[in-house]
Amino acid sequence: MTEKKYEKYVSCTWLESGVCFDNGVYGSNVKLCCYMSAPGGGNVMIFEDYHGTKIDWDKFFEIKRKYREIQKSGGTVDGCRGCVFLEEREWLQEDYIDSIIFDHFTKCNCACKYCYTEEDKKGYNSLKTYNIYPIIKDMFDKKIIRRNGAIGFGGGEPTILPEFDKLINLFLKNGFTNIRVPSSGIKYSRMIEKGIKTGQLSVVISIDSSSRETYKNIKQLDKFNTVSKNLKRYAKAQKNSYNVISKYIIIPYVNDTKEEIDNWLKFNKENKIEIIVIDIENSWLNKYRKQEPDKNIIDLIKYVMQKSKEMGFYRLEVCDRAKYLLE
Ligand code: SF4
Ligand code: SF4
Repeated sequence: MTEKKYEKYVSCTWLESGVCFDNGVYGSNVKLCCYMSAPGGGNVMIFEDYHGTKIDWDKFFEIKRKYREIQKSGGTVDGCRGCVFLEEREWLQEDYIDSIIFDHFTKCNCACKYCYTEEDKKGYNSLKTYNIYPIIKDMFDKKIIRRNGAIGFGGGEPTILPEFDKLINLFLKNGFTNIRVPSSGIKYSRMIEKGIKTGQLSVVISIDSSSRETYKNIKQLDKFNTVSKNLKRYAKAQKNSYNVISKYIIIPYVNDTKEEIDNWLKFNKENKIEIIVIDIENSWLNKYRKQEPDKNIIDLIKYVMQKSKEMGFYRLEVCDRAKYLLE
């Protein structure tokens, strides 16, 4: 057996063995990752103007290797400058993919007021996309995909993608264990349920409320009961309470009361949803960055942290934006 070759330098998992299929403000393309908050801007392209054609993997890895060589020489790929994901360690010197983000679609069955698609809902809901299944199947057939990374989605609502079931089944069948699907929770997916049952997949639903009125105010749809019901159904399918994630994005002046939060925490606990996430709405935070700290919102985040501890939740994830406020 040939020995695996590692080399030590500063790089990141996405640069080394990741790929993001993107479709959005920068057009339809294939990139290293979907992270754009790095001071360098992220957005490092593999193929621009890509619309689902068969991929020449030799060409693909030739481009990825060029980025790797920049890192190995002690430099930094332009878009990656200052990125928090860069780290110095031993990196395997092989051409393979283990982490994928599917962000090639924007259509959604929900209408969150805070969503980037709100600026042109009709446009984003009708944006042309492509079937990604044959590309991923080809990755499996050519044995360039490995199991140790993360499989995730952007979007858009993943469950309404025509290829969603086939795609997820492919990963489940091949033993992938780190699949994370964000969903509006409006459509119940048997394939998500299957992944939850085997413990290979986690679903994340940002319900952001604990009442029909607040939900409707945020989502512009009267679907609170449907989403609550689906959250409960997914939760029931869990073997160990760690595959359904309930998220709450605090929107100042909309859902920022302790009562709303208390009822959300209670709902999760009662339904054995043991992983919860707290976040803060992006456009408010961007406005707020230039102003004095908002004590009420900071106190509310601290309240969630305290309360979730008291209630014995398995894990509370505090998103980067909320962490920024706390700092
Ligand atoms: S260093 Fe940051 S921007 Fe560059 S590929 Fe990794 S995650 Fe993306
Ligand atoms: S569920 Fe996600 S993609 Fe859909 S409208 Fe809400 S934030 Fe946007």
